[in-house]
Amino acid sequence: MAVDRHINFFEMEKACEKPGCPLCRIVAHRAERYIDNMLFEHVSDRGFRKAHRLAGGFCDYHSRNLVSFRDGLAVAIMGRDILEDRIASFKKRKPWRPKERCPICLERERIEVEYLGFLAGSGGEGDEERELRRAFTGSQGLCAPHYGQLLELCRKLPGWIAEFHERKFEELKKRVDNFIEFSTYGREEEFSALSEKDQLVWKELARELRGTAD
Ligand SMILES: [Zn+2]
Ligand SMILES: [Zn+2]
Repeated sequence: MAVDRHINFFEMEKACEKPGCPLCRIVAHRAERYIDNMLFEHVSDRGFRKAHRLAGGFCDYHSRNLVSFRDGLAVAIMGRDILEDRIASFKKRKPWRPKERCPICLERERIEVEYLGFLAGSGGEGDEERELRRAFTGSQGLCAPHYGQLLELCRKLPGWIAEFHERKFEELKKRVDNFIEFSTYGREEEFSALSEKDQLVWKELARELRGTAD
């Protein structure tokens, strides 16, 4: 295994031990680290400053935590770029429009492609591949958006990954079917016989359908 695949392997194995989609967890963790780095390093990186400025800052989702950062100076320096551009277009009585996408979203997509490619290439019979399969099939598996992305990226998916996810989504659907059926009038007894996990399956479903990062 190449060095990069080793890193992917360890990170994936670690994420598989935690609840939720392992890729959502890796992406959330890396995005957090990326923002941290931004505050310490990227502020003086011209390429990054330019990309950030053309994007008009981070998207709603990735800028939601900026006010809680302790490094106010970095946030101010980056924010001033954006404000200058807004003032210029406001003076022309024109709405400002982004010319680039949020740099963290772009970074997130890069990480997704890297890890989905890693998973797609894990059909072999080496020790690490077997170990990965064991860890992965013991996890909750990919969320629906990430599994869909994997199918899009990879024509020949290793059989174990496809079988594991098809089974996972079928089982989830069965539990949702029961939840809906037993929620009707007169089925209270069957409903209360459901496990706590099954009574809250609607929450699990919502997370599975949009990704499980938070
Ligand atoms: Zn996911
Ligand atoms: Zn973003």
